[in-house]
Amino acid sequence: MINLDKNKVKLTLSINQDVINEAKQKTRKLGVSISKIVENFLKFYTHPTVYCFSCGEEFEVEKTETCPKCGWFICPHCGACGCNLDNDARKVAYQMRRVYEDLLIGKPRWRGD
Ligand SMILES: [Zn+2]
Ligand SMILES: [Zn+2]
Repeated sequence: MINLDKNKVKLTLSINQDVINEAKQKTRKLGVSISKIVENFLKFYTHPTVYCFSCGEEFEVEKTETCPKCGWFICPHCGACGCNLDNDARKVAYQMRRVYEDLLIGKPRWRGD
């Protein structure tokens, strides 16, 4: 295969065998490449983005101020933060954010592999 993207580099990773085998099965089924998934994840890892719970616009976490009252990011598009949500909505958002944090920080069981 000819590599048309001159910016691409080879990357060697050490990954748990079961994890990579299952991932390969899934990517084959979905017709995506492991490289693309790793690339997307690394992009997200380096410059995480979230969607505003109020206006739905995407914004980069690093360039965003946090609210001193609720500790949430303040949407640069509409100015919303956790203060705009009622308790139930805040609970839902909090649990959703845990997925995102698990992905970025890694769950303890993945450490030391
Ligand atoms: Zn917003
Ligand atoms: Zn707030």
